[in-house]
Amino acid sequence: MARSFGPVIFVHGGAGNVAPDLVELRRAGLRSAVANAWQLLAAGGCAVEAVEQAVKTLEDDPAFNAGRGACLNRDGEIELDASIMDGRNLAAGAIGAVKRIANPVTLARAVMEAGGPVLLVSEGARQFAAAVGIKECGADALVTERQRARWASLWEGNVERAGTVGAVAIDRSGHVAAATSTGGLPLKMPGRVGDSALIGCGTYADDRLGAASCTGDGEAIIKLALAKSALEFLQTGEDPMEAARRAVGELTVRTGAQVGIILLDRYGRIGVARNTAQMICACIRNDNTDPELFD
Ligand code: ASP
Repeated sequence: MARSFGPVIFVHGGAGNVAPDLVELRRAGLRSAVANAWQLLAAGGCAVEAVEQAVKTLEDDPAFNAGRGACLNRDGEIELDASIMDGRNLAAGAIGAVKRIANPVTLARAVMEAGGPVLLVSEGARQFAAAVGIKECGADALVTERQRARWASLWEGNVERAGTVGAVAIDRSGHVAAATSTGGLPLKMPGRVGDSALIGCGTYADDRLGAASCTGDGEAIIKLALAKSALEFLQTGEDPMEAARRAVGELTVRTGAQVGIILLDRYGRIGVARNTAQMICACIRNDNTDPELFD
């Protein structure tokens, strides 16, 4: 099958229940994320640049659980996970449980570009960020009032969650990329690293298959290597929507956990599935520059 689609950018804003006052803010954030990334793709930019740009836009938006606005861990601190992968050559970079980094996806991309270790955590990630000129922000710069209040209410049993961000893209040359960024699960144990930092689990991209970004219960996503498993279903010619549904369906049967996934196959056809009440997504494809929204 010849590639018959133009560039595509497809993003998600996390699986779970979205607080009613956040729904419109998240829709608007996702629209601007795809619009920003689309500008790069339309100008001939590569898929990696597009997914980094989309995720960065969402990290800067306090309506999402990534970068500024991320949820707090058990100790009331923000620890961030992110990863990015380039389908051209399987280059990948990730960071886990980092503090005081406003754009974790950019740090993950720097790890990828350095071409050494794929995943950096802790003090090593901090030193690497300094070495490549990515500055730390103040301890409270990423903490929003909403997340501070939510942290307090979570101790009383309110387990509302969602807001991880992710993007998949295909560029004019047919190369794919994926990226994911999150504050993880509210009240998580300090040092806990979820699927969003793990290649094959929360994020995967391979020009021979496609690209995927996941969200939801990270422990279940890790156990089933959800991003890579979903893309492997494409190998047998499965339709991308079917591949996404099958991957989420199998995870549901095996673990009962709550997750969502977006993906693209190598022809630029999109797939999306979730077993949660909501997962707001936006897409620009086929040179139609009006973002399409999926709830
Ligand atoms: N998958 C993320 C994690 O477990 C959380 C989420 O997507 O809501 O860290």
